[in-house]
Amino acid sequence: MKHVARKRFGQNFLTDAHVLSDIIDAIGPRRGETMVEIGPGLAAMTALLLKELDHMHVVELDRDLVARLEKAYPRERLTVHSGDALKFDFGSIPVPEGKKLRVVGNLPYNISSPLLFHLADFAHLVEDQHFMLQKEVVERMVAEPGTKAYSRLSVMLQWRYDMAMLFVVPPTAFDPPPQVDSAIVRMVPTRHQLPADAAMLEAVVTKAFSQRRKVIRNCVAGMFTEQQLVEAGIDPGARPEAVGLAQYVALANILKPVQ
Ligand code: SAH
Repeated sequence: MKHVARKRFGQNFLTDAHVLSDIIDAIGPRRGETMVEIGPGLAAMTALLLKELDHMHVVELDRDLVARLEKAYPRERLTVHSGDALKFDFGSIPVPEGKKLRVVGNLPYNISSPLLFHLADFAHLVEDQHFMLQKEVVERMVAEPGTKAYSRLSVMLQWRYDMAMLFVVPPTAFDPPPQVDSAIVRMVPTRHQLPADAAMLEAVVTKAFSQRRKVIRNCVAGMFTEQQLVEAGIDPGARPEAVGLAQYVALANILKPVQ
């Protein structure tokens, strides 16, 4: 029976064979790796990944799709975790000693930011992540200071990951087509993470970007004095989007120092 795409689950199924093959090439799955796919849907990516892997994990919210996947693949090849990826414990997937988890997915766009933040908690267990996302979101993820796209998402994710936009995917590659362009992003947990308290950094960055048209001195008034901004290497008259990751980390360390 044909599956009717459910909008509330952000279902846009990939159908373009060239795009699919480009994505699999970008991921480069290798036998023996531990891989989890978020939102496998009708298994367009899953089927191709399983040509290279003996086994993989998937996390799927839609029960109808879970039933289809369980019917289509034996358990030795596919472990289906039925449930919400936003609540899924990625640390529960067994990984051989000394190895890490590879995470992939054509993500549901309606939950992409919370999902990226949820995954950030597991960054220490992760080898890399390859995702299809709304192009505009990927642009924000990889944005440099001083650009319009530079935001809370840029700072928080760049703190944890080295990221690159690999290629753009047009709406015509999907059924039904989404309203926006999409892009593939590669995220590799950085080996040079600046020490900071995650919750404090998040609080500082959220406050700084809450009124991005104001100067930073006013955005963080009540949290930091002008003197403390200068101490962190920040011009108090700069806009929040002109302030780099290292400076935000320095601010977080003023309130909660981390070695
Ligand atoms: N990977 C497939 C489907 C992409 S559509 C393809 O490329 O064709 C997004 C998929 O994510 C759908 O299967 C949808 O049911 C699933 N999904 C939506 N919200 C989810 C959530 N919170 N947790 C896990 N899966 C979710």
